[in-house]
Amino acid sequence: MQLRQSQNLGLKDWEVKANMVNELVWFPTNKCLIDGAWVDSELNNEIELINPSNGRLLSRIARASKNDVKNAISAASVALEKTWGEKTALERGRILLKMSQLVIKYSKNLAHLESLDVGKPLSQAKNDVIALARYLEFYGGAADKIHGMTIPFQNDFSVSCLRERLGVTAHIIPWNYPMQIIGRSISASLAMGNACVVKPSEEACLTALAFGEIATEAGLPAGALNIIPGFGFEAGQALAASKKVNHISFTGSLLTGISVQTAAAQNVVPTTLELGGKSPQIVFDDANLKRAIPFLVNAGIQNSGQTCSASSRILVHETIYRDVVEKMSGMYKNLRVAPAIEDYDLGPVISRRQMDIITSYQNKCSDLKLLAEGSLMEGTNNQGYYMSPKLFETENYRHSVAQEEIFGPIQIIIPFKNEQEAIKIANSTDYGLVASVWTENGSRQLRVAKAVKAGQIFVNNYGAGGGVELPFGGIGRSGHGREKGFESLYSFSQLKTIANFHG
Ligand code: NAD
Repeated sequence: MQLRQSQNLGLKDWEVKANMVNELVWFPTNKCLIDGAWVDSELNNEIELINPSNGRLLSRIARASKNDVKNAISAASVALEKTWGEKTALERGRILLKMSQLVIKYSKNLAHLESLDVGKPLSQAKNDVIALARYLEFYGGAADKIHGMTIPFQNDFSVSCLRERLGVTAHIIPWNYPMQIIGRSISASLAMGNACVVKPSEEACLTALAFGEIATEAGLPAGALNIIPGFGFEAGQALAASKKVNHISFTGSLLTGISVQTAAAQNVVPTTLELGGKSPQIVFDDANLKRAIPFLVNAGIQNSGQTCSASSRILVHETIYRDVVEKMSGMYKNLRVAPAIEDYDLGPVISRRQMDIITSYQNKCSDLKLLAEGSLMEGTNNQGYYMSPKLFETENYRHSVAQEEIFGPIQIIIPFKNEQEAIKIANSTDYGLVASVWTENGSRQLRVAKAVKAGQIFVNNYGAGGGVELPFGGIGRSGHGREKGFESLYSFSQLKTIANFHG
C-alpha cells in the first residue's frame, strides 16, 4: 500500500495565539513518523484528542495498526545498520545537543501545546519543556563519556568489557508528562546508539509529534526515532509483543505494566517499568514547617495530582499535627482551579473517565474528615474536567484511599506517634516510588531514609526540582529498573566480555 506522506506537520512552529483555550490544533497531526517521513496510518484511521479544559475536539492523531508498528520497527533496524548505527558517540551527542537547542527555540509553542493537550497550567508545561531540553543536553554530553572496563584476570589474558547498544528500543509513554517522559527515555537510548520506536498516549501526544519534527530538523537520521500514535490495546500491544525489539521502556499504570512485561517475557525482552505510587512525606516534630508546608501541598496537587511521584500521603507527628493541618488547610483554601492556559494552581484532569475514577475515590472518603478544599474559577463551567483539590484526614492508614493510587488532587493526612510508627505507615502500601523526610535531626534523616522503601528519598525537600542527573525508579509495585542519570545509560546498553588469551 502506498502511504501518503507530508514533510512537516507544522506543530513545532505552530503560532501561539491569545485566547488559546478554544483553539483547535488543526494541522495534519494524524500521521506517524516512520523512517523519517510523516505517513498516514495503514488503515487511514484517526483518534480524536479532546481538550480537557473545555471537553471539545482539540485535534486528531493517527491510529497506528500492527503493520505500522512493524514498519516502524523495521525502519529502526535499518537505521542501526546504516546511517545512525555508523555515527560515533561524539556525533550522536552533538545531534542530541542540537535537539536540545531546538527545544528551547520552540519552547513557547511546545508549552502551549502541552498545556492545551494535557490540561496542565501553562507554567507547569513550561517547566516540562525545560526538563525535555535538559535531558537532551545531559545525555548529549554523556554520549561519549560512558565507558566499558578492563578486568585484571590471569596474566596470560587481557579481559575487556565493551558497553554496547541494545538495538531497537520501544518506549511506551503515558499522557501526564509526554515531553518529560519522552525526554528521559529517548535521550538516554539514542545517546547509547539505539534506535527508538515511541508509542505515545492516545489521550495526549501533540508534543510527542512536535518532538519528532524537532528531531528531523536537528539532523537525526531517518529511522533513528519513529513515532506511532495509537491505542494501547492495538499499537502498544503490538510493540510490546514484538520479537524484534530489544528493550521496552514502559511508563504507565500498574495493570498495563504487568501486561507489557508479560508480553515481553514471551520473547525474553528486558523491560524497565516506571509505574505508579502512593508516595509519603514524613514530617517530624522538629521540621522547618515554613519550608515544608508549600512542598507538602504542591507535591500533591501538581498537574492535578496526576503525577506518578505525587505525594498523596502526609504523615505528621502527633505533637505538630494540628498545626500542620491548619497550615495546609490555609493553603488549600487559596488553591484555584481554572482552564490550563490561564495558569492558576490547577487545570482540569485529563478526561471524563479520569474524573469518574477520582470521584469514585472521593465517595470512598465519606468516612474521612474533609479538612479543606480549593475552588473553581470562572471558565470552569464549560464542560471541562475540573475538580477542586481536597485534603482529608484519617488515622486509618489502611483505608483504601490511603493505600491505592488515586491519580487526582486528593491528599490524605495521617498522624503518627513515633519514628517506628511513621516508618511502618510509610511502608504499608504495595508501592515504593518516592518519599520525603522532614526533620532537622541528622541521625534521624539517615535512619528513616534507609528504612523507608522507595527508589528516591528526599530529605527536607521533595523532588529536588526534577534533577535529571538523579537515578529514578520504583521498587515493589512502582516498577523496576532505573531511568535518569548515568544509570539510564546502563539500562539502555549491555556489556560484552572479551577474554583474550595471549600466553
Ligand atoms: P496507561 O497504563 O493507561 O497507559 C500508558 C501507555 O500504555 C499509553 O501509551 C497506552 O496507550 C499504553 N497501553 C495501554 N494498554 C497497553 C497494552 N495492553 N500494551 C501496551 N501498551 C499499552 O497509563 P496512563 O493512564 O497513560 O498513565 C498514568 C499512570 O502512569 C499512572 O499509574 C502513573 O503513576 C503512571 N506513571 C508513572 C511514571 C513513572 O515514572 N513511574 C510517570 C508517569 C506516569
